[in-house]
Amino acid sequence: MENVVVIGGGPAGLSAAIYLARAGLSPLVFAGSPPGGQLTLTSEVENFPGHDSILGSELIEKMRKQAQRFGAKIVDENVFKVDFSKRPFEVFVSESTKIFSQDQLASRLSSGSVAPRSSSPNEGSLRRSLAQTTDFRKNFVSSLAVIIATGAKALWLNVPGEQELRGKGVSACATCDGFFFKDKVVAVVGGGDTAMEEALTLTKFAKKVYIIHRRDSFRASKIMQERVFANKKIEVIWNSVVEEILGNSKVEAIKVKSQNSKVKSESQKLEVDGVFVAIGHKPDTDIFAGQVELDKRGYVITSFRLSLELAKMKFKMKKSPSESEGKMTIQNEKLEKIVDKFDFNYQMATSVLGVFAAGDCVDYVYRQAATAAGMGVSAALEVERWLESSIK
Ligand code: NAP
Repeated sequence: MENVVVIGGGPAGLSAAIYLARAGLSPLVFAGSPPGGQLTLTSEVENFPGHDSILGSELIEKMRKQAQRFGAKIVDENVFKVDFSKRPFEVFVSESTKIFSQDQLASRLSSGSVAPRSSSPNEGSLRRSLAQTTDFRKNFVSSLAVIIATGAKALWLNVPGEQELRGKGVSACATCDGFFFKDKVVAVVGGGDTAMEEALTLTKFAKKVYIIHRRDSFRASKIMQERVFANKKIEVIWNSVVEEILGNSKVEAIKVKSQNSKVKSESQKLEVDGVFVAIGHKPDTDIFAGQVELDKRGYVITSFRLSLELAKMKFKMKKSPSESEGKMTIQNEKLEKIVDKFDFNYQMATSVLGVFAAGDCVDYVYRQAATAAGMGVSAALEVERWLESSIK
């Protein structure tokens, strides 16, 4: 039986693993297949503290090595099912997955028979070298505690040129990549709060920012819309969709087509240096539906998030009681129904005692590698505290 299983091999999961391993808890990390999360899909990362500039994949590799050095076991496999209805919890992986027991791992590490992970992800992982030498296998793992750190995926437009030019001008994160567009012209696609935030962030760098939106009004909050409309660098192109992203080694232009049925038009070529897609994210939490409380978009609800929602609701009701009454009552009832399931002594606790969550699968606001890492650390410290108190 494991002390703690971490599901997810991005910055949240690996930061948790480093802390858990240093605390002597030998965490077992299912890092996914392919491992590493969103960070491995970006190019340079310049905003992770302590690194001037580092490739996303290199940053992940360093975190993995750091966690392994302290005794974390990392398995590059996907978890396909969990059972949190009883303790110990059960985490299911494919039958072909081979997992090393803690004793076996310790003896191998101390005897030096396990080679450290190679720096290239393609040159054979620790998991593979272990798997070849052991017949310890089953398709589920029992664990006293679990950390969910499965992340979220940006939604993409699925138009020609988009995937080919990712990291070459196509991005889903202005905070990460805006810096590379000093005095350039960029386009943001979407009409929600994220699109507004991305556009405003980009005005700090770019000389011109287009927002391309498929309808004639934004769904973003009023205050964000007002900020966008007040910014002279931003021009909104309403009722329009991006049909194609053009460029050879980098983004050079986009093809934009008007959706306005009254005006029959050909698509227009708009010269831009970058395209920021801001049409939403999907948390990777499908396997946790029915196991822990998720919000309507699939984000894992933690004690911290729930207390924030409750506080926000009370604040809104106090500020404008008549406006919020009907809407709030429905939300209120839902939140109050689940509130008893949470232990508010732990910020990262989910609705199941002993299951914690961290990173982008929880956080729909900041979505940064550094914020995910911080949440992973919090979750690890809470697991440690929770294990100590529940074993007593
Ligand atoms: P969102 O609210 O779902 O908005 C997505 C936008 O993208 C919508 O305007 C949608 O158009 C458009 N869209 C979706 N699919 C598209 C497609 N295939 N082609 C073109 N456009 C497409 O997503 P979000 O902006 O990421 O926000 C998610 C949640 O996080 C929201 O609740 C938001 O309030 C919250 N958020 C909060 C903050 C903050 O508090 N600071 C910051 C960011 C996000 P339609 O409008 O036509 O559907």
